[in-house]
Formats: sequence, structure tokens, C-alpha cells
Amino acid sequence: MAAAGVCSAARAAREKLCEGCSLLCPGLSDPATRSSWGLKTAMVLIHVMFVGVIFLFDANLIRKTRDEPWYTAAYLVIFAATLIQYFLTSGSSPGYVIDAMRAEHGTNTAFSHPILEQSNSRNGNIISPMNDSQLESQTSRLTSSSWLKHVMDLYPPGSAIRNWTCTYCNIVQPPRAKHCHDCEKCILQFDHHCVWLGTCVGQGNHRRFWWYTFEETVLSVWTVVLYISFLRSKVEKAWWQDFIVIVLLAALMFCMIFLLLLLLFHSYLALTNQTTYEIVRRRRILYMRGIPEKVSPFSRGICRNLFTFCCSRNSIYTLEAVPTMEELEARARPYTCVDIISCRCC
Ligand SMILES: [Zn+2]
Ligand SMILES: [Zn+2]
Repeated sequence: MAAAGVCSAARAAREKLCEGCSLLCPGLSDPATRSSWGLKTAMVLIHVMFVGVIFLFDANLIRKTRDEPWYTAAYLVIFAATLIQYFLTSGSSPGYVIDAMRAEHGTNTAFSHPILEQSNSRNGNIISPMNDSQLESQTSRLTSSSWLKHVMDLYPPGSAIRNWTCTYCNIVQPPRAKHCHDCEKCILQFDHHCVWLGTCVGQGNHRRFWWYTFEETVLSVWTVVLYISFLRSKVEKAWWQDFIVIVLLAALMFCMIFLLLLLLFHSYLALTNQTTYEIVRRRRILYMRGIPEKVSPFSRGICRNLFTFCCSRNSIYTLEAVPTMEELEARARPYTCVDIISCRCC
């Protein structure tokens, strides 16, 4: 009885607190926004904990900060830049197919249709798949649209429209796009949905994601160096300080190795113009079937891939065509001396 009373009082207090927060910040009344801000707060606290502990315990580091302030300043700049990059990346658009359609044709074109407008999910997309007859009628309505023509021109001749129609968003996806069930949207050049960022990584933010991973890797390596120099220092310290630092160092080493591998993997993806999804689910992607294993269908050579990844993409809505089978077979042929001299891979 008493326990039930305490529970209902706690529930009422929680509701009152939520109401107060909603009044102060109206955006927090949405559960998705609350969980997104909860995730961001947790990420900031984790960073502050790992960096704060070493400044609290290491007297040598404090002394070094007085003697060589540039060293600590550089470290703190990396720390701040990583957090800023985290917020920029998590708030960036991965490139939505629906936005690409709007960017190309304006918002009031043939693409706005009743089913899309009825949508009531949080991202404005329908959440239940359509049956075959609905899909047929919808695709026939879209047949006249120039988007449909534009997208189908990117696929090999004879491709069926229904294979590329997302049954959740009810739109025709260009090559490399995929529907994300967490974001409830189709993403251009879908890479993966990042749980730490709370958003997808796609055409629009892949480069930013690479920079975030790079900065996070540098920060973790530098922090590991600071932890190890604290453990090796001869200054007097309590046993529990050593214990806390050893536990945190073990977690940090794990994160550092993970980040290094992630950075290497995404550098490889950038050099070969591939995505994580295309590598992991290669056999499930219809237009990738039959393509020789070693060939990256969208690669245009290391230099051009790198240039496109780093600088040349003016629009996040650039669409890529699936190359013809003859072109792919030509790329699959073994390298000869002439190919090496002429830098065929570049
Ligand atoms: Zn979709
Ligand atoms: Zn997503």
C-alpha cells in the first residue's frame, strides 16, 4: 500500500518535472527529441569524464601546463574540436531521397501525392508497407514524373520500377539509396545508421563523419598517452587513483582500437567509392549481383574518388548511374605492365 503510494507520488513528480521542462523548452515534449538530447548529453559527459580524471589526478600534467601551456592548450583544442564535430555531424543531413526529389523539381511537383501527405510518422513518412495493388497504382501515377525517368536512366536497361520503389516512403530510389528504419526515410548513398550520432551516415555527411572519426581517434590516442605517463610517473598517488585510471585506460584502449579500425575502413571506402552497406550486403543488392567480387562498381579511380569525397561534391544530391556490364568486365581484367605505368587504378 505504502509502496504504491510512493510510486504514484514519484510518477506525479516525474510528470510535473517533464511538464516544467516542456514549458521551458517546448522541443523536449517530443520523446524522439528527448532521447536525442539524452544521447548527446551522455556523449559529452563520457568525454568530460575521460579527460577530467587525468587533470584531477595528474600533478605532473598540471605542472607541465604551467611550464608549457601550449601542450595542454593543443590537447584542449582537439577535445573541443571533437565535441563540436560530433554535434555538427549528428545535426547534419545524410541526404534524403525525398529532399533530392524536391531539390530537383520543387516541392509542389508530381511527387507530392495523397499517400505521402497522409503520413503521420515523426519524419513525415508512411510507416506501413503497401500491398502489391497499391504499389502498382502508385508507381503508375509516378510513371509520368521526370524523377522516375531520371532515376530509371541510372539503372541498367530493362530494370523493373517495383524493384526500386521503397514500400515505406513510396518513392523510387536511385542507385545506392536505402530506407533506414530508424530515421524512417530513404537515404542517398546509405552507409549505416550510427547509434552514437543518432542519425544516418550517407552521401550528405560521410565526409563529415570521416573527420569526426579522425578527430575522435587523435583525441583517444593522446588521452591514452596521458594515462600511461600518469601510471609510469614516480609521483606519490593513492592506490585507488591508479585503480580508476587502469579501468578507464582499459576502456579507452578498446575505444582507440575500434576508432583506428573504423578510420582505416572509412578511408578505404572513400578511396574506392563504396559504402559499408554495399560491402556487407553486396549479394542482397540487385544491381550488384553478377558484378565481379573485386570490382567496386561506382569507383572512378583512387584519385577521382578521393577528390569527389573531399572537395568536388557541390550538391549532396548528386546521383550516380550503375555502370554497364561491359564497363565492369573491362575493370575486372587483370593488371598488365601497361596498366601499372599508365596508373589504371588512379
Ligand atoms: Zn524509404
Ligand atoms: Zn538512419
